[in-house]
Amino acid sequence: MKAHDGMYIGGEWRAAVGTDLIAVVDPADEQVIAHVPAGTAEDVDAAVSAAREALPEWAATPPAERAAKIAALRDVLVARKDEIAETVTAELGAPLPFSQSVHAGVPILVAGSYAELAASYAFEEKVGNSTVYAEPVGVVGAITPWNYPLHQIVAKVAPALAAGCTVVLKPAEDTPLTAQLFAEAIHEAGIPAGVFNLVTGLGPVAGQALAEHGGVDLVSFTGSTAVGKQIGATAGAAVKRVALELGGKSANVILPSADLAKAVGVGIANVMGNSGQTCSAWTRMLVHTSQYDEAVALAAEAAAKYGDRIGPLVNAKQHARVRGYIEKGVAEGARLVAGGPDAPREQGYFVSPTVFADVTPEMTIAQEEIFGPVVSIIRYEDEDDALRIANGTVYGLAGAVWAGDDAEAVAFARRMDTGQVDINGGRFNPLAPFGGYKQSGVGRELGSHGLAEYLQTKSLQF
Ligand code: NAD
Repeated sequence: MKAHDGMYIGGEWRAAVGTDLIAVVDPADEQVIAHVPAGTAEDVDAAVSAAREALPEWAATPPAERAAKIAALRDVLVARKDEIAETVTAELGAPLPFSQSVHAGVPILVAGSYAELAASYAFEEKVGNSTVYAEPVGVVGAITPWNYPLHQIVAKVAPALAAGCTVVLKPAEDTPLTAQLFAEAIHEAGIPAGVFNLVTGLGPVAGQALAEHGGVDLVSFTGSTAVGKQIGATAGAAVKRVALELGGKSANVILPSADLAKAVGVGIANVMGNSGQTCSAWTRMLVHTSQYDEAVALAAEAAAKYGDRIGPLVNAKQHARVRGYIEKGVAEGARLVAGGPDAPREQGYFVSPTVFADVTPEMTIAQEEIFGPVVSIIRYEDEDDALRIANGTVYGLAGAVWAGDDAEAVAFARRMDTGQVDINGGRFNPLAPFGGYKQSGVGRELGSHGLAEYLQTKSLQF
């Protein structure tokens, strides 16, 4: 795969300060496909300087012009859609059709939504004898994970640019090629030099340098809760704005009146897509005791059907981690009804679609984020029991409720401690705020709520 050997800073590809490289591996066959530079604190410093220099002019650019640039960016992403999908498949391992529809398709939708929002958002409002201006926060340090490599970038960069902020991005070390492609798209779209900057590198080196940099006004981080806590503490000490999109352990609650086969089938597909590497995946399926055995049989069948269509996990570490969780589930007494810890292929970081029955709410596999193709089916006795189980983790990112009618599902969903709930299989909405309750995070992404994260208000009284 084609890779740049430098950083995109101030509108050009500049040589990295250090000589260390990061190897990019295709997780489907474990072969090294490219190398990118491992950025240092000096690279981050150069990128932040470029972003600061570009800030006054970009912040003063009329919203309609910023909207036009974001629309141009969306158009480049559309034109390069196949290349995006191929790049994500090469470095993440996702099957190509999934890369085309989701990994390339969703960021195009989100970029388009911010082109529209930048043009229509009320950056100024009258409140009594005041005029309140929504102004850009400043320079944004964006740190993203590998699981949806382009989506995670666009969900931060598009609203930041719409708000009038400038950005330094440190993408995940496993998926830097998609980030480089995005930087090319920024360039092609004619976004002014310094408004977006890219530093590839390791989290504890380049990521930490960015999070700690005095020239960064807001850190927007998506990733693990462990790293998020550290970044939150660093930002807090510097009285710096921070947005954290962290882990999840979401519940798929199937009420007795629901269409069981549909709820189970969609629930299994929700986890198996992207090989379970989705922060909002419904990894706990909650089923009433009267329907439990039927749900288990349906889930096992659905997972077995998935079989070979599932991609690998992103890297050897995740492969070992997920298989370790499956072994732990067995050791703690859960019953395997599909898949298991054995690697289904000799090469590549594959794990079979796995379903556990007889999972109790306190088991490790029901509490910790596995980030692999593993579903735990948990039995409940009544609605209060289901609610207690659904809310019984440190996380609160997403979830689903299925019932005979939407009103019944909504009544249950309103009692869930979680940021986003799909009702009877509700579709993804790129304008709906996305983000966590509890330890799943702070702040929201997408739509106007996502834009507001990058704004601060100034009130003038008359
Ligand atoms: P991670 O926390 O290891 O890494 C995320 C990013 O942070 C990477 O770019 C990494 O290089 C960087 N990083 C690592 N250590 C750092 C440090 N000390 N300082 C600054 N940056 C550092 O997470 P991951 O393994 O890449 O991603 C998986 C996790 O992300 C899962 O827990 C998942 O739930 C979470 N996630 C959350 C959301 C959400 O929207 N809530 C979305 C996707 C993924």
